[in-house]
Parts: sequence; C-alpha cells; structure tokens
Amino acid sequence: MTDPIILLFDVDGTLLRKLPEAKSAKKEAFRHAFFKLYGVKNVCYRRHPIDGMTDRGILEMLLKHFGYAGKPGNEDGERFFRTVKACLEDNHWFDPAETYELLPGVKTFLEVVRNYGPGIATGNMSFFTKIKLRATGIDSFFGFGGYGEDGIQRVDIVRAAMSRYPGRPGTKCILFGDTPNDIRSGLAAGASVIAVASGGFPIDELNRFESEKVAVLENLRDTHRVVEVMHRLAGTPRNRIRFLSAEH
Ligand SMILES: [Mg+2]
Repeated sequence: MTDPIILLFDVDGTLLRKLPEAKSAKKEAFRHAFFKLYGVKNVCYRRHPIDGMTDRGILEMLLKHFGYAGKPGNEDGERFFRTVKACLEDNHWFDPAETYELLPGVKTFLEVVRNYGPGIATGNMSFFTKIKLRATGIDSFFGFGGYGEDGIQRVDIVRAAMSRYPGRPGTKCILFGDTPNDIRSGLAAGASVIAVASGGFPIDELNRFESEKVAVLENLRDTHRVVEVMHRLAGTPRNRIRFLSAEH
C-alpha cells in the first residue's frame, strides 16, 4: 500500500507546453472576446503579459486597464469565458494536437504516481484544461482538480483542488508547479511544493524558495529522483513506493 499523498499539478510549464511555432490559442481567443464584448481591439500582450496568471486574473487585469472599474462579476466572467470557448471551438486554425506537447518525463512520472489519484491545480478554465490534457493524452490520469473558475488568486484554486480530493481529509499535499506564484500559493494553502524549471522560469529564481517545504528540480525526467523528493517532502517512507511501469 502507498501512503496517501495529494498530488496536484499545475498545467502549463509543469506538465506541458505550447509548441514555440504554434499560435497562442488563449491570446487569440481572449483578443476576440475582448473585441466582441467590450469593443477593445487587439489587446497587446507585450504590454500585458499574461503568462503564469489565472484566467480570471487576466480578465480582471485587462478590464481594469481598459477602464472597467472593479472586479469582473460572475456574469461578466461567465459571458467572457463562454465567448472564449465558442471562439476556440469555431476556429479552424486551432488544432490542439498540433499546439501542445508534454514536457520531459511527464508521462512516465504520471504512470508511476497514478495510484495516488493525482489532481490538477491550474489557472486555466476547466474547458481549456480539458483541451490541453486531452491533446497531450494525459487527461485520464486526473480525477479531480481546481481550475480558473475557482478563483482569481491561485491560492484559492489550490485550496479548491485540495478540498475536492476524494480520499482522507487532512492528507498531506504536494503541489507541482513552475513559477514563484505556484510556490507561494502552494505554501499558503498548506502544501509542500516541487518546483520544476521546465516552464521557462529561471532555476536560480526558483532555487531562492528552496526550504524544507520546497524542492526545485530541472524537470520531471528523473522519475526516481522526483519520487524520492516527493516522499521526503511528504515525510513518507521511500521504500513504500511501487513503481508501476518501466522508467525512462
Ligand atoms: Mg505554470
């Protein structure tokens, strides 16, 4: 038997990435929705970087910038994301299978930890998460999660994911993420964090957070090492680990 641990995974930069040559479907769809609903043309993402932000956080930032006071109410948010979803579904240029790829070691690692029943903690709305996980063939690994719908702040999303864990309440949690924001939100929610430098965030920056609750790795490629770190953070014995598939 494996001791239970809640394993939560951020999506972009942790499990998968957008291929460099592929168009950013999110940026395009947000641009479209902004024009359709608010008449704002060509939102410029150089001036408004959105990487690492939650979807509702992006909407809030853009609304504020374009003069819509206050936080987006639920109705605004729902309308906006309905429009984004419709845009993605209608768009002939968006082929998810040609847009995303898994990061090194992810599939093998997920096979090894499948027994823990891993979950998701992402700023992406749930429909967009589904598109990405399906396109990279890993959707079946995840049975629960926290998504963009659960909060503007990432910590609320992590908390929502933890509360949906179907196992024993109070189980220790490890969040896998690739940004300082993931680390901070994981710690604030009471989780330990494994930060990976596979999302483009410099490893030196991530290393600054290293502590007894935070470990930093290049990526998830070295399955043995990741599992070892995971158990160190959770305080569970290494010899209980069952490797379920061939590694590497
Ligand atoms: Mg990320």
